[in-house]
Amino acid sequence: MKVPFVDLKQQYLEIREQIDNSILEVLLESSFIGGRRIAEFESSFAELYGVKHCISTANGTDSLFIIMKMLGIGSGDEVITTANSWISSSETISLTGAKPVFVDIDSDYYSIDETKIEAAITRNTKCIMPVHLQGQMCNMDLISEIAKRYDIPILEDCAQSHFSEFQGKRAGSIGIAGSFSFYPGKNLGAYGDAGAIITDDDNLAEKCRLFARHGALVKHQHVIEGINSRMDGIQAAVLLVKLPHILEWTERRRAAAAFYDSELKDIGDLVLPVERPNSKHTYHLYVVRTTKRESLRQFLKQKGIGTAIHYPVALPNMEAYNYLNLKPEDFPVATSLERQILSLPIFPEITKEQLQYVVGRCKEFFKV
Ligand SMILES: *Cc1c(COP(=O)(O)O)cnc(C)c1O
Repeated sequence: MKVPFVDLKQQYLEIREQIDNSILEVLLESSFIGGRRIAEFESSFAELYGVKHCISTANGTDSLFIIMKMLGIGSGDEVITTANSWISSSETISLTGAKPVFVDIDSDYYSIDETKIEAAITRNTKCIMPVHLQGQMCNMDLISEIAKRYDIPILEDCAQSHFSEFQGKRAGSIGIAGSFSFYPGKNLGAYGDAGAIITDDDNLAEKCRLFARHGALVKHQHVIEGINSRMDGIQAAVLLVKLPHILEWTERRRAAAAFYDSELKDIGDLVLPVERPNSKHTYHLYVVRTTKRESLRQFLKQKGIGTAIHYPVALPNMEAYNYLNLKPEDFPVATSLERQILSLPIFPEITKEQLQYVVGRCKEFFKV
């Protein structure tokens, strides 16, 4: 048996006819950039989130950058974010000219330790960027309370948390804006790069749209200088086909996670993910941890099981941030977990047999 870490082809096969037809229509209409599907995707996505605006972009990295740039963040400013994420979260801060300020993570939930945010605030702090990692939202009560007290906007990085919830609210609908990625492997994935911004703020929405479209909403009338960050027609066609399925696919991820939860508990020193109370984890990743990470990973690989590490090096420990002169000891949780975390295969189409096989091999490894 083979269990890949993710299997994008399986999902395509389930919706093949609709996808093929949809893409063919784009080709026949030659609506490669812009067109009705972009507008339709934006309004459908905004509606599902109960927000006023959705601006489609070329990718999730652009979404983060555009939002911060339009919040007026730049040189001399600081943005607080987590020590454990994909580099987009912090590189976009630097791209605006601001300085990323990393905060260590929480050992239960792997995202920013909310209790350590306040100590990182200075008079230059212009934004707090929680990253809802692995499909689980941060404690937005704590973050919102701090942000309100210091009057600092919150930008939610939702690239890994499509339709995740915290106390009934969806990721991206709490802060001033939410940033999404539709990279193929994300819970809602396009067939290439794509992204979106959601917000209830009319002024910010207008600025983001303008900036992402070369500063011109009417052709050749450039009000400001901007960038080119558009979702293309084929990606919108794919996402429109997928959107009606996303909640069901999310439930399938949750069912797979529930199976792992019940079958892998009390095995060796394996620590399983914890779902935050009153929250909905959407299991973009199912991350376990063990002191025997490397040997478990090798063993599973030999047995035909794909795994991954998210992430093997915490952001402050990356070579790219040598210039900040940070010490691994300043991020003890993120640094110690680098060597212990392992992401097991999870995707909506994973079969019961595949899940059983993964569980069986984990038990074999720990000699249970
Ligand atoms: C994937 C990802 C991004 C960036 O998305 P792209 O569409 O690949 O640019 C940003 N933040 C996090 C946490 C991600 O996982």
